[in-house]
Amino acid sequence: MKGFEKFYRRKLQERWDILQDEGILTKDDIKCLRNTVSSSELGNSMIENFIADYSIPEGVSFHYLIDGQEYLVPMVTEEPSVIAASSHGASIVKKAGGFKTKIKQRLMLGQIIVENFKSFEKLNEGIENEQQSLLRIANKAHYSLIKRGGGARWIRCRPLADDLLSIDLAVDVREAMGANMLNTMLEAVADHIRAVFDENVLMSILSNYATECLAIAECSIPLSVLGKESFTGEEIGRRIVQASRVAQVDPYRAATHNKGIMNGVDAVALATGNDWRAIESGAHAFAARDGQYRGLSQWTISDEQLKGRIELPLPVGSVGGSIGILPLVKINQRILKIKNAEELEKVIACVGLGQNLAALYALISEGIQKGHMRLQSKTLAIAAGAKPDELQQVLAVMNKTKEKNSATAKAAIDKIRRSKRHDRN
Ligand code: NAD
Repeated sequence: MKGFEKFYRRKLQERWDILQDEGILTKDDIKCLRNTVSSSELGNSMIENFIADYSIPEGVSFHYLIDGQEYLVPMVTEEPSVIAASSHGASIVKKAGGFKTKIKQRLMLGQIIVENFKSFEKLNEGIENEQQSLLRIANKAHYSLIKRGGGARWIRCRPLADDLLSIDLAVDVREAMGANMLNTMLEAVADHIRAVFDENVLMSILSNYATECLAIAECSIPLSVLGKESFTGEEIGRRIVQASRVAQVDPYRAATHNKGIMNGVDAVALATGNDWRAIESGAHAFAARDGQYRGLSQWTISDEQLKGRIELPLPVGSVGGSIGILPLVKINQRILKIKNAEELEKVIACVGLGQNLAALYALISEGIQKGHMRLQSKTLAIAAGAKPDELQQVLAVMNKTKEKNSATAKAAIDKIRRSKRHDRN
């Protein structure tokens, strides 16, 4: 791997040449990489060792009526059934008057971890007594936040183990996700803890368990609008409630229940340039907040209504990170017509709940495979080599068969091509 030395310092063309010279990629592969690149300056400025722009399809989801306002929601996802399911879930809720949301506050938390401290009580008292001056030190480290109406709000001391404690700093990060801003503020406070309190700071970093940045979305759907084929609305509602209970008592089901929710949450997070890994980790930590991993949403029935509720941390931003850099993000913000990060949080929470409703609805009625495989057939056909003018014919064959796999797709393509050759001869 000698050719890879100082790879990060190379020009893009040189990186491609190295990959080819090392026998890893062919000339055609390099051509393919070159065709993906919209701006090498942008790619190089965002990450190290940039070689291509990896693209994932983007679509829009409809019917999101949220607090009386309708949204068109851009979603970036590689999974075929996500956007159709999202629009379906949202359309059911729309018929019932739409989603309602609540957001109490938007604070990000950061931690200064202290090891081998002398006395928890003494340090705790010291932090309490010096609260105001510590907050001032934090704010001085990122003063522009104060000008925008944000800043450090509180600081607390929390025991972790006999020799470990966490000093937690809560910051109003306004329109940003705030990771970098908070890290800067934490380091300034950590220096003070070292110098004035004479304690051993192990590290300072924001926490992705964003418990002070929670979003709630709710909906209430008359059972009468839920009926489908052989199922009455009452039966659909009852089965959704049971499915929701399973996710509360069984982590095996809860993980899949939450994966369905995150299908929607991540797709909007990606479309809006947000750090979906941060959102994922926070959501899963929150799902296990009482010691057992549970579903993030719950469904109940009262007054002949199916009532859904989701609560999860959504530390998203409308500025900062890659948001101001990626051209598509600006366009997606315009599609969404969001005014600020709080509004984006509301939309994402509703997408999570809408996505969850669609998944549960399908699971407890026809099962998800019918819809999934209808969409999956397209992916299978393209992967098997179907050309655009063959696609519809291949799909028609695949829709008639129970075995929707790449062998069926390949067989259908061969058959179509054989019959075309036959017609020509
Ligand atoms: P950032 O570093 O870009 O800071 C936000 C910038 O936006 C600041 O310069 C701020 O002055 C400016 N700004 C303009 N208008 C603003 C407004 N109205 N409100 C607030 N700020 C405003 O980004 P960030 O939000 O501090 O951090 C997010 C980035 O950090 C993401 O790329 C994320 O992936 C990354 N990150 C995440 C983690 C983690 O999650 N554990 C750790 C480190 C970094």
